Amino acid sequence: MKKWLFGMACLDLCLLLCCLSAAALRILADGISRKGSVSVSSQSILTGRTEGGAEPKRIALTFDDGPHPTYTEKLLDGLKERGVKATFFVTGEHAELHPELILRMKEEGHLIGNHTYSHLQLRSNNRDKFVSELQKTNEIISSITGEEVFYVRPPYGSWDKALEKELNLFPVLWTIDPTDWSCLNAETVTRRVLKKAKENAIILLHDYYQTSVEAALMIVDQLSREGYEFVTVDELLME
Ligand code: ZN
Repeated sequence: MKKWLFGMACLDLCLLLCCLSAAALRILADGISRKGSVSVSSQSILTGRTEGGAEPKRIALTFDDGPHPTYTEKLLDGLKERGVKATFFVTGEHAELHPELILRMKEEGHLIGNHTYSHLQLRSNNRDKFVSELQKTNEIISSITGEEVFYVRPPYGSWDKALEKELNLFPVLWTIDPTDWSCLNAETVTRRVLKKAKENAIILLHDYYQTSVEAALMIVDQLSREGYEFVTVDELLME
């Protein structure tokens, strides 16, 4: 009788051990699959892609009037640190003064466009001068980068559509203008841009002011956190 009880107890113990090891295996399997899904979402944060594999929202930063010997260099440092590409519409006279910055823009993957030689506004009586300033500036930029220039930002937005064929230049305006040149307050400029930021927007800033460079980097940091990807304007306009 005692032997029989002992046998039953052994059987119970075996069953209990089997149940425990099955439970342990289940916990282990859960852990592995949970771990797998964690690594997938960390990957999506790293690539800026949203859950479900959607493309990130794209936005473009553009800088006019440079290059400036101090502020453009600071801006390029900040963009490089963050792995961000931008578009620079430079004047011919500033490009001539700082060719090393034009070369750095090209080498670091930024897009360079034409902003006339002397920041000339197209008017009804100066078309020829405007055209020659655009041609001269194209030549200056190309002689530094070895590449043709395809984009222009006409100062004050004055443009003649016939020039697109004539000069093989495509005009790029903007959708967000925080008037950084008049405000000169980095926080205000940043707030104005963030308020209007949306997919495919083209932000207008000037790398000719310290406050604009500070604002640009704050804008990059905040919009990157919101899942935006910064691209050069050709990537937005090609589609
Ligand atoms: Zn300008």
